[in-house]
Amino acid sequence: AHKFDVVIVGGGSGGIATAASLIKRRPELTIAVIEPAAAHYYQPAWTLVGGGAYSKHATKRTEASVMPKDVNWVHHAVTAFRPENDTILLEDETEISYKALVVATGLRLNFDAIPGLEETLGKNGVTSNYRYDLAPYTWELVQGLKAGKAIFTQPPAPFKCAGAPQKAVYLSCDAWAKRRVNDAISVEFDVAGPALFGVKDFVPVLMSYIQRYKVDLQLNSKLVHVDGDAKTATFERQVAGKTEIVTQQFDMLHVVPPQSAPKVVRESALANAEGYLAVDPQTLQHITFKNVFGVGDVIGTSNAKTAAAARKQAPIIAENLLATMDSRDLPYIYDGYGGCPLTVENGKVVLAEFGYGGKLMPSFPKWIINGFKPSRVAWTLKKYGLPFIYWNAMLKGREIMLGLKRR
Ligand code: FAD
Repeated sequence: AHKFDVVIVGGGSGGIATAASLIKRRPELTIAVIEPAAAHYYQPAWTLVGGGAYSKHATKRTEASVMPKDVNWVHHAVTAFRPENDTILLEDETEISYKALVVATGLRLNFDAIPGLEETLGKNGVTSNYRYDLAPYTWELVQGLKAGKAIFTQPPAPFKCAGAPQKAVYLSCDAWAKRRVNDAISVEFDVAGPALFGVKDFVPVLMSYIQRYKVDLQLNSKLVHVDGDAKTATFERQVAGKTEIVTQQFDMLHVVPPQSAPKVVRESALANAEGYLAVDPQTLQHITFKNVFGVGDVIGTSNAKTAAAARKQAPIIAENLLATMDSRDLPYIYDGYGGCPLTVENGKVVLAEFGYGGKLMPSFPKWIINGFKPSRVAWTLKKYGLPFIYWNAMLKGREIMLGLKRR
């Protein structure tokens, strides 16, 4: 009874963009988007909310308002994938079958993986820009702090938006410098991995801000425990081949949680060994089930997990999925493009854009935006341009400035 040409699981950035790209190309398709949430968020602006430069309300719209016309919204969560017989199962046990499937569930935020953390979020000085309800608390803490210790964390990769953890550091430090309390606040940035940023070309300009703000950068340092009442955070550090456990007092703690594919994907036949959707990195087609595609953060590819990446992927998936339904060769390939506007000061952004293998992929000529230089134009793009493009182009299937590559 419940049968659609295309089923899209997840109505976030990638799911809605793909639905819009598909219905635009072939209006007669029956498409369902399965999404349990009533609200849709523009997550990239939460960094600005945490830096006091954006209203949280402007990042939220109703799911109904972003659902493309003529697409069916199924207001439930998917509890199982059964790709062997082209069906999915919903939480109310309804079975839905499809000709083609797009998986767009995004990532799960694993706050619960760090003992003591979840129960103290939003109080005792513990916050995270990764949640709509908590991003304003970051700015409240930044404004309230006059002296003491501020600790920021970055989890092991992969996590969404490779630059977001350090964006929180820079915008906080900028606010403290402007209020001239920076000398009384010691700032530490604990990065679980071995580098400040995954693409080495951008490290020098970012390091110059680490130095300017006098941030104590601790690489290979992973948050493992939080005690909210005592206001302490415990880190596991790799120092000269040895593991050290370090517990520290904080006045403010900004946490970016470890992240993973949702359980329903991890435990399905669609997952790779790490639990992400097993797709071909170029065609975005599932490696075993040819009528299945993946878009956005959930796919097991090495690109930066960003809305910018999903914006490029959506029309490629629409083209390749229709070709699969028509038994044609897949026409388009994805080059791994992702974009990360690093807010190094309130008013300036370092716009890192790169593809697979860290290949630099600037969208603008150098005289407009030079990706290695802090830029006011790039800040304006981040604060006004990109949200406008997101709501009015990406989610509507208007595919501007994408430079898609034919195979
Ligand atoms: P999402 O947009 O997260 O959507 C996934 C959807 O799937 C959700 O609506 C969810 O409810 C739904 N879902 C989950 N499980 C199920 C299920 N079982 N059944 C049905 N539906 C399900 N990107 C940039 O490009 N630039 C930036 O500057 C940037 N900054 C960021 C800063 C922060 C603080 C954060 C949190 C993210 C940032 N991002 C940025 C990343 C960007 O938001 C994501 O990459 C993008 O939203 C990914 O889209 P998606 O569709 O894969 O996932």
